[in-house]
Amino acid sequence: MRVTTCSKRLILESCGLEDLVYQVDPYVGCGHYCSYCYALNHAETDWREEVRVHEDLSGRLFHELLTIPPQTIYMGYNSDPYQPVEAEQRQTRKALELFVETGHSASFLTKSDLFARDFDLLTRMEDARVSISVAFNDDATRRLFEHDTTPTEMRMDALKQAQDAGLQTSALLCPIIPYVTDAMELLDSLAPVTDTIWVYGLTIRDRNGLNWKNVEAILAGHYPANRKRIEEVVFDREHAYWRDLRTRLEKAQLTMKPELKIHI
Ligand code: SF4
Repeated sequence: MRVTTCSKRLILESCGLEDLVYQVDPYVGCGHYCSYCYALNHAETDWREEVRVHEDLSGRLFHELLTIPPQTIYMGYNSDPYQPVEAEQRQTRKALELFVETGHSASFLTKSDLFARDFDLLTRMEDARVSISVAFNDDATRRLFEHDTTPTEMRMDALKQAQDAGLQTSALLCPIIPYVTDAMELLDSLAPVTDTIWVYGLTIRDRNGLNWKNVEAILAGHYPANRKRIEEVVFDREHAYWRDLRTRLEKAQLTMKPELKIHI
């Protein structure tokens, strides 16, 4: 992976998520290269080859953080803060160090287990939240759709460690790919390690977007018999497949401790 620097821009940006005002993307681009990632459609570079970092992130972000009152800041709105290059680049860790120094807290979503490295910082924040996202039950399928993410089981183990360390935890069951993802099985595995589980189906807004082209190629190559019916369900949110899954999730919620936020 080539690591280059991005054009100078504010590192602290406004955040579109509920209850959070600011976000930091420690990287521009994401080496996880999930085939279905919506952000691929407006990527500045080819994420299989190049990821960009902010020059002097520590110096610049420190000054930006001083201009706002202490609060929870979202890490990685358009990229995964714990993508593979973070092991060496440590841009996310540098940001977390500044959060501790300036009284801020962090919330993030990742497909890695690398965040366990930073428990020493996260546990010093008042309100830190760790979230993982999972979508595939077996590793061969995960590798097909998510080029370079951490195996699902390892993510769940790290989330359990976060919970044991006293951090707030949540999970995103996303994207459910019809006839590929066994959502109910993943739900059972996630339930003991998180308080909240958000559930989303695969959403494709543009059939000409790179993410749908990627997914289409995988379906053609590996799911030829199911390809047509998967596509039919993906583009029909009122399809019986989603209704049936919604019903099963609502039923599971009756006996399950984590709160389910169902968006399918
Ligand atoms: S980890 Fe997230 S940001 Fe990175 S490629 Fe996958 S979906 Fe996109």
